[in-house]
Amino acid sequence: MSTPEKYTATIKEKRWLTSDVFFVTLELDRPMQFKAGQFVMLDLPQPGERPRPFSMANAPKKNGSGTIEICMKRYETSVTAPYLDSLPSNSSVTLRGPFGFFTLRDSPRPVFFVATGVGIAPILGMMRDEQNKKTNRDMQLLFGVRYDTDCIFMDELAATLPHCTMTLSQPSDAWKGARGRVTEHLNALERPEQFDFYLCGNPDMVKETRDLLLSRNVSAERVYFEIF
Ligand SMILES: Cc1cc2nc3c(=O)[nH]c(=O)nc-3n(C[C@H](O)[C@H](O)[C@H](O)COP(=O)(O)OP(=O)(O)OC[C@H]3O[C@@H](n4cnc5c(N)ncnc54)[C@H](O)[C@@H]3O)c2cc1C
Repeated sequence: MSTPEKYTATIKEKRWLTSDVFFVTLELDRPMQFKAGQFVMLDLPQPGERPRPFSMANAPKKNGSGTIEICMKRYETSVTAPYLDSLPSNSSVTLRGPFGFFTLRDSPRPVFFVATGVGIAPILGMMRDEQNKKTNRDMQLLFGVRYDTDCIFMDELAATLPHCTMTLSQPSDAWKGARGRVTEHLNALERPEQFDFYLCGNPDMVKETRDLLLSRNVSAERVYFEIF
């Protein structure tokens, strides 16, 4: 793993993917060596505000990546997304990175990703990395969001992964896909012990999913997770 360093980053692209998920591309003052799934700590200029962790959604490049992509959930009292949204393009921010150990391990077993909401970000980075490297790794994804309007990256996910389930906990009548929470689908999963699991999302989802997998005889060291 690379040692974290401080970077100055310029806002190159920003847009809202949904009403509460903000996407930003940051150009770094020099390439960063990171692993898919790692995160940066973004500084906020407001006095007393601590830096916030955000995962890279893009795949790294072999000789270091000059840009990073971040998907940011905006909560009612969020500081970060409204702050970045208020800045003009080409404004600068500072950050430190890379950090974290939520990265794909070498393993002969198939990979099963479980994400909710913006928890898809580091998993997207891992999937894209595997695709760039043409590893042909056996990967599947269970991705949970609340409403139809929360679906992000659907086309890319479906095109990349033959086994990709997007499940909505509060779908509209028009929704034709899977329904229910991710844990309901995992209850029905056959032979879960064959997989390495990678979970990312809010604390409740990660805890419930991990407990469920352990109760279904998946060994704890095969359940990797990042809590947002
Ligand atoms: C390793 C790591 C990687 C992360 N990567 C990402 C990422 O890629 N994208 C992303 O959107 N987030 C990510 N997070 C979570 C993110 O850092 C926090 O949610 C952070 O607090 C967001 O800053 P903010 O300014 O939006 O909200 P803050 O100002 O920090 O919080 C505002 C309020 O929002 C509410 N809130 C904050 N977090 C949550 C939550 N998880 N669930 C419910 N309410 C909450 C709380 O009421 C809080 O008081 C990551 C966290 C970790 C630990």
